Amino acid sequence: MRIANVEGRLVTFVGGRVVDVANESDGRFGPNPQSAFVDFNALVAWGSSIGASGGAELDLATVGAPVPAPKQVFAIGLNYRLHALEGPFGVPDAPAVFTKFPNCIVGPRDVVTIPKPTTDYEVELVVAISRRAEHVSKDDAWSYVAGYTIGQDISERTMQRAGPAPQFSLAKSYVGFGPTGPWLVTLDEIEHHHDLALSTTIGEDTLQDARTSDLIFDVPFLIEYLSAVLPLDAGDLIFTGTPSGVGAARTPPRWLQSGEMIISRIEGIGELRTNLC
Ligand code: ZN
Repeated sequence: MRIANVEGRLVTFVGGRVVDVANESDGRFGPNPQSAFVDFNALVAWGSSIGASGGAELDLATVGAPVPAPKQVFAIGLNYRLHALEGPFGVPDAPAVFTKFPNCIVGPRDVVTIPKPTTDYEVELVVAISRRAEHVSKDDAWSYVAGYTIGQDISERTMQRAGPAPQFSLAKSYVGFGPTGPWLVTLDEIEHHHDLALSTTIGEDTLQDARTSDLIFDVPFLIEYLSAVLPLDAGDLIFTGTPSGVGAARTPPRWLQSGEMIISRIEGIGELRTNLC
């Protein structure tokens, strides 16, 4: 199943066409996209039963964040080996966890303002949690995953390095710094979902190009690790980390510019485009 947020309403797709979930389910689900996570498994069961309805084609100009109001947004730093080696910290022996404060989450139609000249791109596989997860083992972890979407962990590197210890959370939470979308895809719709190509392209340049199988700490490990500390709630997000090729690690550094468009692609999910001003 694929779900999206069109003008603030939860939609799904039948034959590639948009179906309004609240209307089609006679109010059983929706209309708020975040309400998909009240009983996500029931939504998926219902979704597999609906037939063709002759809906409209998706207009990306109407699409918001597929999970617009997560209670918690976890993010993992240095989770690809080559990226870890780009920075001063080396390959970690435990996940480097921070938060993107939930107010930074936006969707594909939001234009993101660059706050400072040292702002950077990061493509990330983003996991949405389907039900409350507390002390979940790696072996059970997949059953707590609602699906995947594409995320951009936009990062202001000067703020990130200000102060006595890295300020990941604040530096990655400026307004609009959490583009996600354009939809959420359940894992049954994604072939080899543990090994997906992901990339960042700006203009003619492919700046990041890797596979999610290169993650140091994979999705089941992260769910076990995080849920051992505090409960994850339905509709929470995990940004799983970015591969090598970020702008800060280039010589000279390659910072984002007003007027550019970041195109992030993840195999099996699609493409997320973010315009910058
Ligand atoms: Zn990141």
